[in-house]
Amino acid sequence: MKRQITEYAKGRGASLVGFAPISRWKEHNEVHPRYHPESIWPDANTVIVLGVPVLLPILETTPSINYVEQYDTCNVMLDQIAYCLAVYLNDLGHASIFLPRDGYGSIDILIDKPVAAFSHVYAGKYAGLGTIGYNNTLLNEQYGPRVRYVSVFTRLSLPGDVLIEKELCNKCLVCKKLCPSQAFATRDQGVVAHMDKVACARYHKDLKNENRYPCGICIKVCHVGRDRELYNSTNIKLYLDEKEAIQKNSDDPRYQGWVHCRNHGSKGDRKF
Ligand code: SF4
Ligand code: SF4
Repeated sequence: MKRQITEYAKGRGASLVGFAPISRWKEHNEVHPRYHPESIWPDANTVIVLGVPVLLPILETTPSINYVEQYDTCNVMLDQIAYCLAVYLNDLGHASIFLPRDGYGSIDILIDKPVAAFSHVYAGKYAGLGTIGYNNTLLNEQYGPRVRYVSVFTRLSLPGDVLIEKELCNKCLVCKKLCPSQAFATRDQGVVAHMDKVACARYHKDLKNENRYPCGICIKVCHVGRDRELYNSTNIKLYLDEKEAIQKNSDDPRYQGWVHCRNHGSKGDRKF
């Protein structure tokens, strides 16, 4: 059954598919019980997590309308694949639903209530798709944090995928350094930073007003992921130097394509 589901989801555009029995939320005891799958839908026995990649060269142009459109495309793909998979399972007699990849009405609501009804990041971790990095995202071996996720809850009981034990984040702190809203603060223990979600959402309000939402810098600059080799984009110093270099010369050939995209389709003339 797992193979059948994986083939179905991949055939509709999912790059990553993982399976998490709901018992993993209790075993790990990291998520408040109100946010466990069975608290949201008591019939859930397994969460199927689906991911689509965010393509790095377009993400590198953020904040730009090109990245906005790519982000929106990922979201549409995810919701459609998840919806189709839930209906497919229902038609086979296995009651299923999907939780949309986002769940807020506006940026103002996000500033007021920055926590989602369900965390696809923890679902992805419990489905063996990655480990949670300093930047609060799921780091995947293939794509690093450059993946968007959605979850399908099903009454089917399926074996879970093997969890990734070794942390993929090495706490290089590049994401912390380059976050425009300074949203990350190191905790005494563990890898995952405290994240000021309100500061992040406030910054997004400015970007949204300029048609440049979302930001995505903390997923752009993370060195984890084999997609960097595919795109020949392993030089993290390029990001560390970006702001200063563009301030000095906005025609710097290393950043020309990114600045070009930022100059089109959004309000204002942000260069970084
Ligand atoms: S999305 Fe941007 S503002 Fe928000 S935490 Fe990441 S880098 Fe910071
Ligand atoms: S940029 Fe560095 S600290 Fe941030 S999530 Fe990636 S590996 Fe971890």
